Amino acid sequence: MINETLTEIYQLLFDHFGPQHWWPGETQFEIITGAILTQNTNWGNVQKAIANLKSAHLLTPEKLYDIEVSELAELIRPAGYFNIKAKRLKNFINWFFENYDGELARLENLNTDRLRTELLAVKGIGRETADSILLYALNREIFVVDAYTARVAFRHGLIEPDADYEQLRELFESNLPPDTKLFNEYHALLVRVGKEFCRPKAKCAGCPLEKLPHEVEE
Ligand code: SF4
Repeated sequence: MINETLTEIYQLLFDHFGPQHWWPGETQFEIITGAILTQNTNWGNVQKAIANLKSAHLLTPEKLYDIEVSELAELIRPAGYFNIKAKRLKNFINWFFENYDGELARLENLNTDRLRTELLAVKGIGRETADSILLYALNREIFVVDAYTARVAFRHGLIEPDADYEQLRELFESNLPPDTKLFNEYHALLVRVGKEFCRPKAKCAGCPLEKLPHEVEE
């Protein structure tokens, strides 16, 4: 049964790695900002960009709404692709102010499907970013998937190799209890095992999932 396998994978990962304490961020808005900045870079670089915004006292929706995109780009330079990311952050902020007056409390009142659809319509916000915002900043029952998730799921026979993002999300959401704490920890644990063991060239020896049936492409 897929649900039993997914539960077993979670338990093995949690027993091995322990809690991952995601998503690091002092406020909901900091988590949203981090989710937009983290595309195609490592978290250390995002932290530097966020530290710059904090030390300039700009890490609020109002301040980022007012700032020029060029100034924002300079501040987030450590995150890489800073011109593109500054535009993405501005696109999000503009949508947020034009539709919800920049008030997070108003996002809280929207149902998840509508919120997800609206986030995905913001230029530069892809599925993984939207879902990270929904789960980690807004506590919605959405399972975030990424390349690590796909790799582990495929190698463990849970999904076809050509499964797309929505099929992967459906796999987890329909076979696990809708629990944001579980979704939070599970995604973080998949990232961890993907970085340490389930790399493009798998290191199955010593992996916490080694005892489960798996097949690695040559
Ligand atoms: S490294 Fe091997 S055992 Fe570990 S998750 Fe990947 S396929 Fe499974």
